[in-house]
Amino acid sequence: MNTRRRSLPALAAWLAMAAGAAFCQDRPAPAANRPAPSLEVTVDTSAAPEMAAWAARAKSLCEQNYPLLLTILGGPEFEPPRKVKLLFKNIKGAAHTAGDTIICAVPYFKGHPGDYGAVIHELCHVVQAYGAQKVPGWVTEGIADYVRWFRYEPPNRRPRVNPKRAKYSDGYQTAAAFFDWICRTKDPGFVNRLNAAARGGQYRPELFQERAGKPLDELWAQFVASLPKEPPRKK
Ligand SMILES: [Zn+2]
Repeated sequence: MNTRRRSLPALAAWLAMAAGAAFCQDRPAPAANRPAPSLEVTVDTSAAPEMAAWAARAKSLCEQNYPLLLTILGGPEFEPPRKVKLLFKNIKGAAHTAGDTIICAVPYFKGHPGDYGAVIHELCHVVQAYGAQKVPGWVTEGIADYVRWFRYEPPNRRPRVNPKRAKYSDGYQTAAAFFDWICRTKDPGFVNRLNAAARGGQYRPELFQERAGKPLDELWAQFVASLPKEPPRKK
């Protein structure tokens, strides 16, 4: 599904939320200013009943962090999904999303039981809801990883970018760090606007110039110049 119905309650909720939230601040808005759009998460561990406790924790984290995701990825004309399913399957890979279903690979999460952030990343894709819109993969993945690594995970886990090797088109953590820098130094609402443009089929590279004052490649060069000269240590 590409588009979601617009509704006045959704508009009112978003406006109230936006009023109480600065997009790039780590400090949450006061609770009184932040309505809590509810999310109903269902879990299917029938293929791996031993994952039930892990899945219950993942469900709880999705529900708790949904208001945060909507602060960053919501918008006045967007009605967010209200139901998401976590489906556990014995497949390769880590996790992926199909519509409002997040498919979690049982072997991966058995081997990485602390990686709840991977589920949060997938929940971002559900909210991004780009459908068939033409959006570069690095933008899609960079936005999901921005929410995960720079807003959800604790600051000491944030990825560092190697200035010698990285390029924004790597997507994921690299693009996430680039977007975080744009939010901190150029435009606090950048990720929100970039995501809204992508969801609405309006993504263009010129958005970087329009929102952050320089063409994409010049911004990237400025970001790289701002990084510590030593490459990041391996985790
Ligand atoms: Zn992804």
